[in-house]
Amino acid sequence: MPELPEVETIARELNEVLPGRSIREVRIFRADALGVVPAEAFRGSLLGQCFTRVRRRGKYLLFHLHPRGFLVGHLRMTGKFILSPRLARPHPHHRAWFELDDDTLLIFQDLRCFGTLTVVERLSRHPSLRLLGMDPLSRGFTVDWLERAAGESRMPLKNWLMDQSKLAGLGNIYAAEILFAAGLSPFRSTNAMTRAEATRLHQATRRLLRQAIKMRGTTISDFRRVDDKTGEFQNFLRVYGKEGLPCPACRSPIARARQQQRSTFYCPTCQPS
Ligand SMILES: [Zn+2]
Repeated sequence: MPELPEVETIARELNEVLPGRSIREVRIFRADALGVVPAEAFRGSLLGQCFTRVRRRGKYLLFHLHPRGFLVGHLRMTGKFILSPRLARPHPHHRAWFELDDDTLLIFQDLRCFGTLTVVERLSRHPSLRLLGMDPLSRGFTVDWLERAAGESRMPLKNWLMDQSKLAGLGNIYAAEILFAAGLSPFRSTNAMTRAEATRLHQATRRLLRQAIKMRGTTISDFRRVDDKTGEFQNFLRVYGKEGLPCPACRSPIARARQQQRSTFYCPTCQPS
């Protein structure tokens, strides 16, 4: 599932191309992504509008529109935005086409159909965006904030990192990698962190996310950039998916456990409980 670095990569790549382009036609091939909104209403709210900017918040893509409103996208498991020359017919996994005024297509493709597309007048009206917690790349994400917010929760640290209402953008891969880099156990109670540990966690979070964005994300199975190329950060993962392999720091075998029905990869020696 795309996490913050993958969504940031998509936002940056789309932001290089979309601003100034207007939407000439919208074609919906499968309306699941629109929730309860009728396809015709969705199309009507976009026709003739112009993209001015694309950015990210948590794992959401925000397309600023002129003269009004926002298209908000969430890729969930397998959603993708692809820029393409005009096509004769849709691929079976294409869910929506946005035909642009330069004769190109912005395609929303989604194999599993969990991704969502919403148009809102104001971002504060979006039902899920309002509930998002701190973005770990925002200015508000400081050691002080982390120490204070963590002090209010007894959740296991990894679950807390992945809770979008606390910190918005991390998923299973980066939570595991960040905890390894910080030398912190995924199982320990979030409010048990010391100031020194919160500082390590803060530094590891910023450093890994920035590195991953520089590498244009992690492609384990499905993630593709808007030009269909893969990211590169999968080559730099140190614990995720490495069960039984030697820890890159201490050579003891990487362990795997279950937390909230997800696999947690960690080094029991470097990340003691
Ligand atoms: Zn180790």
